[in-house]
Amino acid sequence: MDIIDREDNTQKVFLSENNLSVAEILNEHYPYILDSIESEEFILKYDECNMFKELVFEGKVVGFCSYDFSREFITAALNNIYVLPEYRGNNIFLNEIKSTMEEHNKPSIMEPTRFVVELLIKHGLAYKINDSIVGSAIEFIVPGHHVLSNVEYGNEELSTHYYDLSICSSIHILDWTQKHIAYSTPLNDDIRRYKDIKQVDEAYVDNLIDFYKDNDVELMNTILKLEEKLSIRNYTLEEVVGEGDELSFYMESLIDDAHVTRSRALQIKRQIIEEYEAGMILNESLLIRLEYLFNEKSSPTITSHIEVCPYCSMPVDDHDRYCHFCGINLDYDPFEVEDDLFKSINFDDSDFNEDIRFVAYKFLRLIEQNIELEYSIYNIESTYNMDWMSLNSFLVENNYFVNNRITDEGFGFMENHPLNFFEKFHMGIVDYTDFENYFYSHCDLNPVDICLCYLEKFDDDDYILEIIDEIRNSM
Ligand SMILES: [Zn+2]
Repeated sequence: MDIIDREDNTQKVFLSENNLSVAEILNEHYPYILDSIESEEFILKYDECNMFKELVFEGKVVGFCSYDFSREFITAALNNIYVLPEYRGNNIFLNEIKSTMEEHNKPSIMEPTRFVVELLIKHGLAYKINDSIVGSAIEFIVPGHHVLSNVEYGNEELSTHYYDLSICSSIHILDWTQKHIAYSTPLNDDIRRYKDIKQVDEAYVDNLIDFYKDNDVELMNTILKLEEKLSIRNYTLEEVVGEGDELSFYMESLIDDAHVTRSRALQIKRQIIEEYEAGMILNESLLIRLEYLFNEKSSPTITSHIEVCPYCSMPVDDHDRYCHFCGINLDYDPFEVEDDLFKSINFDDSDFNEDIRFVAYKFLRLIEQNIELEYSIYNIESTYNMDWMSLNSFLVENNYFVNNRITDEGFGFMENHPLNFFEKFHMGIVDYTDFENYFYSHCDLNPVDICLCYLEKFDDDDYILEIIDEIRNSM
C-alpha cells in the first residue's frame, strides 16, 4: 500500500456543482483508502458529494472527507469522513472541522453516526445534557427520506442541534404542545455497532417532551455556549459585498453559480448594505443573507415546524440569534424602527401635494422593511397629504401591492423610481422635486442617462462632477 505524500501538507480538493461519485474518486486516486474501507467493512454514508477533500496528516494522505451542498439549508454538510485505522486518534476529524470554520464558514454534518457525535462530545463541540440527549454546536442535517415523525411530516429535510444516543438519532421537537417530534432513521453503521438501540414509542416521546419542557433554558444555553466557543471566521460587510462600486470576489462567484445578472447583483448589494446598516443582519449572517437573496425562493420549502422566522417562514430554534435561511437578525425589532419613524413624522399641516408615485414608493419601502401594514399606512397618511383609499387604489390599479405583498411589478416600479436613483447615486445636493420633474419629462431615456443629463446642467460644481464620475464608473 503506497500512501500518497503531501510534503507541504496541502489538501487536494475536488469540487463540482454536480454530483461527484465518492467511490470513483477513491478508486481512481486513492485505491489504498478504498481497500482499507472494504477490508474493515466500513459503510460509506453517501455515494455522492459536491466536494471531496483529502485528509492529510504529517505529510501523508491518510483519509478523506466529503461535503454535500444542502439544497434547503444553505450550508456545506459533511457527509462522509474516513481515516485509515492506524492514523486514528490524531484529532484529524476535529482539525478538519476547525480549519473549515476558520477559513470559510460553519459546516454542518449530514446524519452523524453515534460515533461521530461521541467524537464531537470528546472535542468539546457537543455536550451531553443528560445520559442520552446531546446538544451540538454543529448542526445535523437529515435528508427528507430519512426523517421519521409521529406526525405527517412530508419528506422535508431536517436541521437540528440535538441527538439522542439511546436511539442513535438526530432529534428535533416540532411542536411540544402537540408532542410532535421528528428524528432520523438509525444508520447501518450504528445498528451494527450498538445492540441496545431503544425504540421510539409513545413513552419515549412523553419522556422527551417532559425533558425539553423542564430544561428548555438549559438546552438553549448549552447550544449558545457551545456556539460561542467556536472560532468561526467573521466577515465584514466590505468583504462580503465588495468595496465602493465593486463586487466582492465572493459575489462574482455567486453570479456564475446562481446565474444572476450583474445588475441584480448590484441591487442585492444595495439591499444588504441598507439592511446591515439598519441592524437587520449580523456579521455572522452576512453570507447566509447574501446566498439567500441570490437563490431566493418565494415560499417556504419546509412547513412542518411551529416556530418559524417572521421574515421567510422557515424553521428557527429558540436559541438562534439569526435565521439560518434568510440571515435576518432575529432580535431586529421593527417596532424600534417604527418608533424612529414616528419621531420623524411631520405634524405641521402643509398643503404641498406629493406626486402619488413618490408616496407609493415611500410606502412600498416601509413594507419592504417589514414595517407592519397598519403602521405603514398611518405613517404615510400623517406624513403626506394622501389618504389610504387613494394610495391603495393607485397600488391596486397598477398591480404593485396585492394581498399585502409587493408584487414583481411593485418591485420593478421601485427599482425604476427617480427616488431610487436619487438615493443610489447620493444626489442629495440637488433639489429632489426639480430632479423628479426632469426625470418624468425625459422618460424615454434610460434612467441612468436621465441622471447624467440632469447633473450635467450643474457642471460648474466640483461635487456634482464627482457624482457624475461615480455614476459613469459604476456602469
Ligand atoms: Zn428567515
